[in-house]
Amino acid sequence: MYDPLVNAHPGVGLPHSASYWVDTAGTAPQDDGPVSGAMDVEVAIIGAGYTGLSCALHLAREHGIHAVVLEANQVAWGCSGRNGSFARISGGRVPLSELIERYGASTAKAYFEEMSAGLNTVRGLIREGQIECDAQPDGVFKVASHAGHVAALKREVSLYNDVLSYGARFVDEAQVHGVHSGAEAFGALYMPDGFSMHPLKLAWGIQRLAREAGAKVHVASPVTDWHSDNGRHRLVTPGGVVTARRVVVATNGYTSGALNKATAGRVLPVHSQIIVTRPLTADEKRQSLAGSECMFDTRNLLSYYRRLPDDRILFGGRSAITGRDAENPRHRQNLHDALCRKFPALQGIEVDYNWGGWVAVSENSLPFICRVPGLDNVFSGGGYAGSGVSFSVQTGKRLAQMVAGDEQPTGIDFLHQSPRRFPFQPFLRIGQRMAYAWYRFKDAQ
Ligand SMILES: Cc1cc2nc3c(=O)[nH]c(=O)nc-3n(C[C@H](O)[C@H](O)[C@H](O)COP(=O)(O)OP(=O)(O)OC[C@H]3O[C@@H](n4cnc5c(N)ncnc54)[C@H](O)[C@@H]3O)c2cc1C
Repeated sequence: MYDPLVNAHPGVGLPHSASYWVDTAGTAPQDDGPVSGAMDVEVAIIGAGYTGLSCALHLAREHGIHAVVLEANQVAWGCSGRNGSFARISGGRVPLSELIERYGASTAKAYFEEMSAGLNTVRGLIREGQIECDAQPDGVFKVASHAGHVAALKREVSLYNDVLSYGARFVDEAQVHGVHSGAEAFGALYMPDGFSMHPLKLAWGIQRLAREAGAKVHVASPVTDWHSDNGRHRLVTPGGVVTARRVVVATNGYTSGALNKATAGRVLPVHSQIIVTRPLTADEKRQSLAGSECMFDTRNLLSYYRRLPDDRILFGGRSAITGRDAENPRHRQNLHDALCRKFPALQGIEVDYNWGGWVAVSENSLPFICRVPGLDNVFSGGGYAGSGVSFSVQTGKRLAQMVAGDEQPTGIDFLHQSPRRFPFQPFLRIGQRMAYAWYRFKDAQ
């Protein structure tokens, strides 16, 4: 499997990895094929996930700039075509209390509003673009997987209500069991906003809108070399060289260190894996997930899960550390064990699908929408830490504003600072292994 810390680029025109999403997405909309021959463009965007596609769409629609998107493999070949499908008020992975402590209440509120705006941007695109992506009703539960986590969840509800004036509420154990039967559910924080959908259909919908607005989307066109000279960027792809005045790097967790020295080492690719069961019987449904809400738990190495429209359960969590180990059956078994611990009625249930992908964690665990230091007119967005469905679409919109000349479109300082490089690069995976061991120890308490 492609490993951004090891390989130079993700491939050339590889098909999507097998997944439930690929099997149920229908036919891909038209793209512009691989780059063929030399091209001279105003704006090139590297990576055709939500960030890159949304940037291309907003550049065309709101700024009259018709960008060219360069994708190594297929549209949404990265996270955007393989995620857990939760579009919610999220971005990065910093607890609300810590966010307030780090940046103060008013910045935390502004950031929350930006995340909410991201969710609304997704809703707006689905509605206006008539994107048929099987969007489910709103509702997100953060479930206390341990009785000892209930007090912290209640404190978090108070922060949402008092500091952010947002209507989160605490749902007690008895009520939670109405939607989450089985074990490991001692209460939950409920957020009324946030829904699940079909991630690949969403990406394809944004691709269609971007092309209709005048953007070009070239697949099978990895950037394999990059030369910058006199404010011009020469992006080398197998089919031809694309020369651009401005470049947006939207490769997020799939960013190889070889793409450009200036972007190397600024995110840690972390593998997240998903299993999907066979469809549940009516009885199994009643004894596990009666509703279709988005759910995740309070563990450090958290699990996320939901019931799909055809009554299967999608269950995901952290897995391998390296690409070489990602296909080890042990990780699929660990997820199956975790699923059955939560829902004992599903003991031994068949798993029909299993896949994974690289999420991007930045040094401060928060997203960035910034200029890339050391390069003229190069911008980048990412670092969503596995919670980027809605925020990546919003980031694409904000990047389009930056490309068009607005230096700080959100007004939130930390979002527009370039992520710091991780220290001790050669030892990143060792550090991650140690962190996982510590989290597993804490999660078992
Ligand atoms: C298993 C999993 C579950 C997840 N679940 C959720 C969830 O439920 N909710 C949520 O909010 N978030 C979730 N996420 C995270 C979310 O999917 C991402 O934050 C979001 O899709 C990021 O979009 P992106 O466009 O920035 O990056 P990506 O979609 O990863 O796109 C990057 C693209 O860049 C391309 N690329 C890389 N290098 C090059 C190159 N040299 N040349 C050309 N192209 C290149 C790649 O091929 C890739 O297609 C999950 C992620 C995973 C992996």
